[in-house]
Amino acid sequence: MTKLIIPKKSEYIGVKSSKIHNKGVFAKKDIPKGTSIIQYGGEKISKKEALKRIYQVYDEAEKDSSKGENYILDLDKKHDLDGDFPWNLAKYINHSCESNSELTDVDGEIWFVASKDIKKGEEILTNYGYGLEGHKEFPCKCGSKNCIGYMIAEEHWPKLNAARRTPKI
Ligand SMILES: [Zn+2]
Repeated sequence: MTKLIIPKKSEYIGVKSSKIHNKGVFAKKDIPKGTSIIQYGGEKISKKEALKRIYQVYDEAEKDSSKGENYILDLDKKHDLDGDFPWNLAKYINHSCESNSELTDVDGEIWFVASKDIKKGEEILTNYGYGLEGHKEFPCKCGSKNCIGYMIAEEHWPKLNAARRTPKI
């Protein structure tokens, strides 16, 4: 049996279409730095089940390029959280190289917490912290001045920048 984690309702956000990708999450009011903005909900599943679902998504993407997104986050050592539910509004938060929120463990729950002061109307953005492996399949279209071009964790940026500066032989 798996368990559903239903997020608490957030007073701070609304979902509408985004220039970055499809839908996005936007601030309905000013949000001070440090605020827990919205909880990430979903189905608590085993790591094994998560892997099965991720492969399923890859298979679907091969047949239909409009698919291929999964909403699975790391929850703890044994479990992941599959957030692919319409009531999990946090799944619409887009990746950006210039983020204003961070995924944070708040007493065992996953929340997007404001890492900057966010103004009413701004899109809530986060860096999902992906690794370098296969990064070329995940181009970033965040449009920020410092966009690194791919959806990867900031810790990998120096490596990617160095690779860019190395002339191809
Ligand atoms: Zn970017």
